[in-house]
Formats: sequence, C-alpha cells, structure tokens
Amino acid sequence: EVEAPVAVAAAPKKGSGIKVSNRDRVIFPEGKLTKGELADYYEAVAEIMLPWTGSRPISLVRCPQGRDKKCFFQKHDAGSFGDDVKQVAILEKDGHEESYLFVDMPAGLLTCVQMGTIEFHGWGARIEDVEKADRLVFDLDPDESLKFKDVVSAAFHLQDVLGQMGLATFPMVTGGKGVHVIAPLTPTAEWPQVKDFAHRFATALAQAEPERFTAALAKAKRTGRIFIDYLRNQRGATAVMPYSARSRPFAPIAVPLTWDELKDLDTPAHWHIGDAAEMVKRARSKNLAHWGRADQVLPDL
Ligand code: ATP
Ligand code: MN
Ligand code: MN
Repeated sequence: EVEAPVAVAAAPKKGSGIKVSNRDRVIFPEGKLTKGELADYYEAVAEIMLPWTGSRPISLVRCPQGRDKKCFFQKHDAGSFGDDVKQVAILEKDGHEESYLFVDMPAGLLTCVQMGTIEFHGWGARIEDVEKADRLVFDLDPDESLKFKDVVSAAFHLQDVLGQMGLATFPMVTGGKGVHVIAPLTPTAEWPQVKDFAHRFATALAQAEPERFTAALAKAKRTGRIFIDYLRNQRGATAVMPYSARSRPFAPIAVPLTWDELKDLDTPAHWHIGDAAEMVKRARSKNLAHWGRADQVLPDL
C-alpha cells in the first residue's frame, strides 16, 4: 500500500529554466566537486526540499569562491536575487519591516546556487505567522573527543524523554558533526514560551547527567560532553534545512532519517550531493513520507 507523500511538493515542472554559469568552477576542493554538480543536486531534490524552504523565512550560506574561501550568512536580499527568490516582510522589534527570503520553486533554489549559495537554513516558523513556532529543534553538538555513537545515544535519550512528555520526534543528521532532534509543533505557542520550554528542557537534562550533557554556551563547559544547543528555538534563529548541502569537505548533505536508521549509522556525513536520486526515493518511501509532520503542542514542563 502506497501512502500519499505529504512532504513532497505537487508536480514540479521539469527543469528550473535557470542557467547556472561557471558550472566547472570547483566549489569543494576535496573531491573536486563543481558548481554544476551542486546545481544538479538541488535541481534533483527540489521537489522534496521546497516544502521546507518554501514555507518559512530562510538564510543562505554563500561561498561564491568555494567552500574553503570566504563564506557569509545572508538573511536579506541585497537586490540581486530577482523574482524567483521570494520575499516576506517581517516586523522587527524596533517596529520597522525587514524583508526575508523564501524559496518555493526550483528556479529559486537554482538562482541561489547561481549566486554562490551552498547551504539553506530556515526559521522554525511559517511565513503565515512567524511569531508562532512550528517545530522545536535540539541541536546536539558533541565535543571533538566524542564518537558519533555517543551522539546517537544522546539523540535516543532525547527521543525517550520528549516521547514521555507526549512529543513525537524525528532525527536529522546535519552532514556536519551532529544530529538535530526535531519535534514538529502545531503553531500555537509564541517564541518566548517555546524558548523557555527548550531552555528548561536542556537544563534539566544537563543537571540530570552533567558528565554527559551541558546546556551552557561556554566552550570550556563542553569538554567531553554534548552541548544541547537549545538556542535554535528563538525568534529568528535558524537550523539547516532538510536536504541542504553543507559547506564542508566532500559536500555532505543534511538528511532526515528514521530512528531505526539512526541506530546503525556510522557518521553524520554519510550522504553527499551525489546522492540526490537516493534522497528522492527515500523521501517518497513509506517510512519517511511523514517525516517531520505531527499535530502536537508543547506539554507543560
Ligand atoms: P553540526 O552538526 O556540525 O553542528 P549544524 O548545522 O548543527 O551542524 P551548528 O554550528 O551547530 O551547525 O549551528 C546550528 C545552526 O545555527 C545552523 O544550522 C545555522 O542555522 C545556525 N547558524 C550557524 N552559523 C550561523 C551564523 N553565522 N549566523 C546565524 N546562524 C547561524
Ligand atoms: Mn549542531
Ligand atoms: Mn549548534
């Protein structure tokens, strides 16, 4: 029996129609991967990525000269993205409106690649109402001395504790060092409440097992521990989007997976931009079609 793939956008047009220049430019010196290969990756995963980048404000990591050269984090259009990258006005604290980006069609993704983008990051709130969170994310950042197995068991610990509170969670490997444990939320709670929950949750875990976890920002506190980065859960903070490439050696990608798969995974950078077809097939599979979707609200803590 085949279920309707909720996370897959409706009938994408074949081809973005965007011409990417300098396709042979090497963007990832390790593995000699080119801008053209990165463009082909994003073209191929557009249909499974756009439901995420098209529903929330995003930020870009741009590295026009390559991932090992100067990169910058970009939140706003400086006037060069054109009409295929959409904009949404958001009221800032000081009362003025600022324009943020979102990308809801293949041509938008490819325009970003043309402009040197490698990574796509997104808010935890939807464009319709940016004051209300539609996900919690616990970004598990391991100290360098730890093994990935330690991160995996930490992720399962969070799954267990959040599960006991009634929250279904989904894991994603970042393509970097860690795992994001994500609890989708029906957008009802506003940011101060969500941040408070995340902060208190992370602090409680660290107090229960101080040898294993820390919720403290200070790098010195992280030696031998996993930092539970709860700060992704505040207004305007971003996390890397599913299927984003990473500006790291050999062009790894952020990959949603099942808890079962995480159990046996050897590295958080297991997949790379050459794996687009596998990503599309995975996203349509029964086990992942509903990844990151759940109707649930913050419990009391
Ligand atoms: P890793 O698994 O290697 O930690 P990560 O994507 O979780 O990969 P972090 O350094 O933990 O990387 O960052 C968490 C999130 O913080 C990122 O996904 C990104 O959205 C956001 N972030 C990172 N750098 C910046 C920055 N310069 N400005 C704003 N937000 C950033
Ligand atoms: Mn992280
Ligand atoms: Mn982090």
